[in-house]
Amino acid sequence: MSKAEIICISNQKGGVGKTTTAENLGIGLAQMGKRVLLVDLDPQGSLTIALGHQRPDDLDVTVTDVMRSVTEGKDIPEGYGIIHHPEGVDLLPANIELAGMEAGLVNVMSRETVLKEYLSNVRKEYDNILIDCMPSLGMLTINALTAADSIIIPMQPQYLSAKGLEQLLGTVNKVKRQLNPKLRIEGILLTMVDGRTNQSKEVSELVRSVYGKQIKVFDTEIPRSVRVSETPVHGSSIYTHDPRGKASQQYRKLTEEVVHIAEKRHRLQFEESR
Ligand code: ADP
Ligand code: MG
Repeated sequence: MSKAEIICISNQKGGVGKTTTAENLGIGLAQMGKRVLLVDLDPQGSLTIALGHQRPDDLDVTVTDVMRSVTEGKDIPEGYGIIHHPEGVDLLPANIELAGMEAGLVNVMSRETVLKEYLSNVRKEYDNILIDCMPSLGMLTINALTAADSIIIPMQPQYLSAKGLEQLLGTVNKVKRQLNPKLRIEGILLTMVDGRTNQSKEVSELVRSVYGKQIKVFDTEIPRSVRVSETPVHGSSIYTHDPRGKASQQYRKLTEEVVHIAEKRHRLQFEESR
């Protein structure tokens, strides 16, 4: 039976396009016929809001309840907490209660594997699971990295932070050593790229030359577009909000790039196993 590929979208810096990427890559994959689950793992609930739930604190069941059930050893009913979005993806929402959950994890045995345990039960229902991380390297992000097969790192070329990236890679390596040896860095995604400014172009080239040897930088870059910043209010993806725009086109291209990389990897694995 097929099992979902779990991708964690992470960067401890806020405002770099994690949530926007989780939403539009997720819906892009659904448009290619994939069964997709989006997990909001940020107490701010930005992904939940972006998918049309303007008041996440009013939701009855969220990822917090699901994770709590795991820690309490309770059975989780099928589809518990999951919301279907009209654009063809499932969402496990989050709200502020998740912050309390994170604090409470300190006293839990196997606290790093709570999300992994949950996802291992639902992963047969999906082709892709995307986790939208919060802007920190705390226990929730560790849970996401422990559950994931790979990580995509969105990054704004305007604010290249070598130190920030080192910290993130340090955490990734620690998780690899201690909790999840198979974790891969899928790549750095340049977001909010302002094609008109030289600075943006320069930094984008700098990222490619400095990190490109070590880490893949996606060929696709996401342009800055006001149309993207308008989407959260509408609760819909960029494909619905501005189907012919450049951002829409680039998120579609990114989706194809991600699928292409996965297919290539599967082919290689298949050949090696023969
Ligand atoms: P993060 O999840 O990393 O904090 P978000 O995806 O929430 O980042 O993006 C931060 C802000 O920038 C949001 O208001 C979002 O709507 C906006 N934004 C994201 N991507 C773009 C883009 N390509 N062009 C313009 N605005 C964007
Ligand atoms: Mg976010």
